[in-house]
Amino acid sequence: MLDLEYAAPAPKVIAGAKHDWELVIGLEVHAQVATKAKLFSGASTLFGAEPNSNVAFVDAGMPGMLPVINEACVAQAVRTGLGLKAEINLFSAFDRKNYFYPDLPQGYQISQLYHPIVGEGEVLVELGDGTARLVRIERIHLEQDAGKSIHDMDPTMSFVDLNRTGVALMEIVSRPDIRGPEEAAAFVAKLRQIMRYLGTCDGNMQNGNLRADVNVSICRPGDYEKYQATQDFSHLGTRCEIKNMNSMRFIQAAIEVEARRQIAIIEDGGAVVQETRLYDPDKNETRSMRSKEEAHDYRYFPDPDLLPLEIEQAWVDDIAANLPELPDAKKARFIASFGLSDYDASVLTADVANAAYFEDVAKGGGDGKLAANWVINELFGRLKKDGDKGITESPIPAARLAQIVALIKAETISGKIAKDVFDIAYTQDRDPEEIVKTDGLEQVTDTGAIEAAVDEIIAANPAQVEKAKANPKLAGWFVGQVMKSTGGKANPAAVNALVAAKLGL
Ligand code: ADP
Ligand code: MG
Repeated sequence: MLDLEYAAPAPKVIAGAKHDWELVIGLEVHAQVATKAKLFSGASTLFGAEPNSNVAFVDAGMPGMLPVINEACVAQAVRTGLGLKAEINLFSAFDRKNYFYPDLPQGYQISQLYHPIVGEGEVLVELGDGTARLVRIERIHLEQDAGKSIHDMDPTMSFVDLNRTGVALMEIVSRPDIRGPEEAAAFVAKLRQIMRYLGTCDGNMQNGNLRADVNVSICRPGDYEKYQATQDFSHLGTRCEIKNMNSMRFIQAAIEVEARRQIAIIEDGGAVVQETRLYDPDKNETRSMRSKEEAHDYRYFPDPDLLPLEIEQAWVDDIAANLPELPDAKKARFIASFGLSDYDASVLTADVANAAYFEDVAKGGGDGKLAANWVINELFGRLKKDGDKGITESPIPAARLAQIVALIKAETISGKIAKDVFDIAYTQDRDPEEIVKTDGLEQVTDTGAIEAAVDEIIAANPAQVEKAKANPKLAGWFVGQVMKSTGGKANPAAVNALVAAKLGL
């Protein structure tokens, strides 16, 4: 059973600290919405296009241009909300968040401050030690992404690429329910997994289409429970926000160093100042970027160019009825219907494409556990060695791996021969059934033939026979010899039984 709790206490003695401290973390995850066009224009969202080639007049902030909401983006936000078991708000509205930045030609970002499209939800986060925890989602709102300033292409000039300007983002805000660096990374990984299942965000962190602002504070043991009981933030410490993290590894490292920094300040008699910080991976430190801005600093006001967004329950219900099976459900089903271990089911459902591949192998091969073994150990291992390929690049399609599993299950080939067949199928684009037939690799189960091979080895090695009679463990040597003389094709169970019988063990 899962150990389900909302943010169970996680006391942590931090090396070098005088007292025990606990971490409290809340994440604001920015997920680029997977759609063809931007949130308020028809310009393409394609990554890697020629700079400034995907920019509509409205994205460039041209005077008099009007934003028009892209229904596909709204549907994706609703789908994501449903995937996080969240409340969907039939009424939401867009606000202008005003600030100046060279990559923001409008001079404001259109966001949803007062009425987000998605309300409270939750995410089940599983940890390496087998426990799991529910992290509450506070809200998801839709907003525009900014462009990109490029400072490292010229010694004296900066450039701007507006292709990303106006692309839809979902900002997913968690409650401060995350209690450690590993949990923070596991939370982001779980969100990414769910959104990839839903097809609402590609989750490619290198391309920046999933990034997180990480809020970190520290408190003394017991304080967090007081917060949980009352939802009163005054029980928690002052937080700092580390901006724009786009690597799981850096998220963890940044939380760790930021916590140490805050502990040192407080144990020195100082106070943490609420501010926005940046993580520097080269120095492994966080640095102040700016003092914390408040909502009023941005002069938010309802966007006068956009009507409030009103959606119908029937439309939401339709999206809900067409959601794909999500990771938790798929994992539970793999355990129940294929007899997989919790661990194997987690590995196989981590990515939706892997899960689909496995399911085809399991169904086609007629044995879930065997299929899991072959997919995880043989195929994943081979793909990793072969230039870290993904499942979609596998030279062996699921139907062929299914044939191998079926051949093993029917005892047509032994597990050992199966590895050779796998290797041939992987490198030569051939059907395993054909390989076994053409290359004559069928397992020898005919006991007469095996018996003859055993007799031959026994007759040729009288000294070994004496030794094995004295020490039955040495019977394995005969099994090995028989396997060798039959080209690995003898049924191992039959060989074992016959060797034991003939040696009188
Ligand atoms: P803002 O929009 O000003 O950054 P929010 O109230 O939306 O402020 O909170 C942002 C994030 O900070 C949320 O994810 C929330 O869970 C987290 N957070 C709030 N208080 C704390 C705290 N004391 N320690 C850690 N995280 C916190
Ligand atoms: Mg914030």
